[in-house]
Amino acid sequence: MRLTPFSTLSLLSIAVGLSLASTAQAARPPAPDLSNSEFQQCLDGLKNSSKFRGVDSFTFNNYRPSQSDPSVIQSLNYQPEFQKDVWDYLSSLVDTERVEDGIRAKRQWADTLRRIESRYGVKAEHVLGVWGVESNFGQTLGKKPLFESLATLSCFDRRQSYFQGEYANALKIVQNGDIAPSDMTGSWAGAFGQTQFMPSTFLELAVDFDGDGRRDLVNSVPDALASTANFLDKRGYRSGEPWGYEVKLPSGFWGASNRKDKKSISHWRNQGLTLANGSPLPSDLNSAGLLLPAGPDGPAFLVGKNFDTFYSYNASESYALAIAHLSDLITREDSSKTDFITAWPTDDPGIGRQESRAIQQALLNAGYDIGEVDGIIGDNTRTAIQQYQSSHGIFPADGRAGQKFYRAIIGNTAATGSSQYGNQYGQPANSRPLNPAPADRMGQLIQQQTSPKSTSNTYSVQPSPSPSSNTRYRRVTSPDGTVKLVRVDEGS
Ligand code: CA
Repeated sequence: MRLTPFSTLSLLSIAVGLSLASTAQAARPPAPDLSNSEFQQCLDGLKNSSKFRGVDSFTFNNYRPSQSDPSVIQSLNYQPEFQKDVWDYLSSLVDTERVEDGIRAKRQWADTLRRIESRYGVKAEHVLGVWGVESNFGQTLGKKPLFESLATLSCFDRRQSYFQGEYANALKIVQNGDIAPSDMTGSWAGAFGQTQFMPSTFLELAVDFDGDGRRDLVNSVPDALASTANFLDKRGYRSGEPWGYEVKLPSGFWGASNRKDKKSISHWRNQGLTLANGSPLPSDLNSAGLLLPAGPDGPAFLVGKNFDTFYSYNASESYALAIAHLSDLITREDSSKTDFITAWPTDDPGIGRQESRAIQQALLNAGYDIGEVDGIIGDNTRTAIQQYQSSHGIFPADGRAGQKFYRAIIGNTAATGSSQYGNQYGQPANSRPLNPAPADRMGQLIQQQTSPKSTSNTYSVQPSPSPSSNTRYRRVTSPDGTVKLVRVDEGS
């Protein structure tokens, strides 16, 4: 849950608005030099302002930051130069790994999800879809200290009034005893916990579902899942309805993508639309709008009210489609095919995190500084890809990590050491990688936030010198829902 104007806030979807300057220069503005005396004066003023009336002075003073955090102002003003294509966005977010994690979570939390479904009327897989996209099933919560971020945003640059309200609300959450102060970390803009609620959304919609008297969306999976269901319910979710479905347009169909222009299913039948597999449209949607994320030549969808409730979580249709698609794949319990039935209109489809990590590892092995291998194609990785493309005669040198680049670099850096590729890619454009990654998804080198606790939650695994290293890690989910990386020696 985030502020609508900032679609790049999501921890998991920070790659949406990636930018890449034409050279290696960063698109990110420099961190501003913020005056601390101005900051402290501002906080003095806030303390006595009407917005902070419900915050007692002990709480205000106790969590009052001694310094501002200029990096959040940098994030506030971050302007991506290039938007990511929708297929890149979806393939990085809805990949085999996340579907498998979702299926596992569905089994682990089956009883809780059943009780949530009967209480709020929200389908288990829809709750799981949100959880998976928002926080990778509780594994990625964000590490920025909330009070510092929100206090800084309250005193500098744009939207101060909005952030002052969120700052006050964050203090109230701690004052109420719902969340431990040390757990108040999150995204730069203040979204936190397994549901990534903003503090105002927390106060409005968080629920205590495990019955301990606290609404703990950081550490309690039942609280987080029930709060998500409550959010969807309060935003108009219709029990028993699907979110929508992938459809096939009749040949020659001309129509605009307009999710909000809802029509009856019989209307769409009369227009010649069918399910993507050619079956007639079912009658289980009250009304639906047409969604064409990549125009009439790509996958097409009819979406109903429940899709709109996903949309209200983050005000982005691609984001809502990721939730919808992930929930379908978790329902089907099939992680082998994460594509839609209709292909995206590109000859170079996107890749998942597994392939992204393999690219990052290959770049590291080739001597490029990409930072950490995290499966997120950020500015550093894109710059390195662009440099690699330039020095290997790959055109266009656009820094994009798609399937073609994946096959090229993996082929080029394979253990044989022979380099066979010049300025063309050899493999068929639409083939999926069969044997994807020398750096396997459990990570020869991954950095992952693995537990909701803010301490000791980062397992940073050192890069192995070659793909033949025998160090492997597997993820183990403990009964309380935390996930850990456990080293597994080869052969065991
Ligand atoms: Ca609780």
